[in-house]
Amino acid sequence: MSDDSLVISEVSLLGAGCATLSLGARANEFKAHNFTIVDSRKHLPKDHVWGFWFMPWLAKTDKVIRKRWSNWQIISQEKCIRHSSELHPYCALNRNEWIDTCSKQAKKNEVKFTQTLSSKKQFQVIDSRPPPIPKGTMLQHFSGFEIETTVDIFDDKTATLMDFRCDQSLGMHFIYCLPFSKRHALVESTLFSPTIAPQEFYEKAIKNYLNDIMKLDDFSIIRSEAGAIPLAVLKQRDISFTGIGGNGGAIRPSSGYAFSFIQKQVEQIVNMQVPNQPLKVEVPHSQFEISMDKIFLSVIRKNPLLAPLIFTNMAQSLNGDNFACFLSGQANLKIWCKVVLSMPKIPFILALFGIIFKRILK
Ligand SMILES: Cc1cc2nc3c(=O)[nH]c(=O)nc-3n(C[C@H](O)[C@H](O)[C@H](O)COP(=O)(O)OP(=O)(O)OC[C@H]3O[C@@H](n4cnc5c(N)ncnc54)[C@H](O)[C@@H]3O)c2cc1C
Repeated sequence: MSDDSLVISEVSLLGAGCATLSLGARANEFKAHNFTIVDSRKHLPKDHVWGFWFMPWLAKTDKVIRKRWSNWQIISQEKCIRHSSELHPYCALNRNEWIDTCSKQAKKNEVKFTQTLSSKKQFQVIDSRPPPIPKGTMLQHFSGFEIETTVDIFDDKTATLMDFRCDQSLGMHFIYCLPFSKRHALVESTLFSPTIAPQEFYEKAIKNYLNDIMKLDDFSIIRSEAGAIPLAVLKQRDISFTGIGGNGGAIRPSSGYAFSFIQKQVEQIVNMQVPNQPLKVEVPHSQFEISMDKIFLSVIRKNPLLAPLIFTNMAQSLNGDNFACFLSGQANLKIWCKVVLSMPKIPFILALFGIIFKRILK
């Protein structure tokens, strides 16, 4: 078929967020699909940091990355596991910067922007508006501050992904600390539980961490961020549309990481395009990963106090490259075997049977 015979298919993208703008920025790679991004501008998410491990499908983030750490650590009361990877450093970028870069690129690629969905029959609507979250869903909820200090206090070569030396009374809880320099860091209090905590809880945890662990009393807050990410397989917001991003299964249920998986999803849409056909949007996690995540979440829900052991054991069983691949959905059988063998057996076996029984009883 020559290019002259191509009929252009008009595709509407609902919501101007991470997934739709990441796709719109690549509109020039589509031979026969045109995009219109539809957003009422009534639900503008606040700026925040996106963290991920650098992977081949994230090459387009290269210029926007704010900081990369080749070292990271996971800390419990008992131990500190440190990892290094030059190939897959942990990276952070700012939401607003990525959204601006993608918006500019999308406009350059002739993507149209509008505030309402046309009432005309659509060839395809791809929907990124967040799906409803049923009551009782496990959440990753967090609140954090970007702070500045007047003295050198942070090791700016090492990201702290989880420090469990904090109050575990409301569920699995850790401090996430990304040091942008020796005097500047994002410090977040993060919980995995079905109930959002009072704001004072996160603030107290951050203050205690800075005072008691970092031995820091004097700091100024330059920005704050907060959020709640569902840790579950959720039903799409409207099944008559095609889901994408968080509404298309991109959030990894066990970790809440989504940015990297959204870029993977977009890459797959680009690669699988067929002229005159609706675009295919696949869930960027395997059925095996989703099943394993369900078991993990069931264990954490019932035994939150095991979380420090589970995460430090898991980290200890892997090297930095393996760990980055595991958290980015690139684990091979060998990595999975190492992780499974490092887990406390009884709670995981009980959780597996619990899930099987629930299915049988359904
Ligand atoms: C504060 C925060 C920090 C996060 N940090 C990380 C991280 O470090 N690493 C990581 O991998 N993931 C992280 N995530 C998870 C994930 O990457 C983001 O949620 C990501 O933005 C999901 O992209 P999306 O396109 O699906 O949704 P969004 O980027 O949220 O876009 C959805 C769009 O839909 C529109 N919209 C929203 N609600 C409505 C409505 N009711 N009606 C109509 N339109 C609506 C909005 O305009 C919005 O732009 C974080 C999430 C949050 C909230």
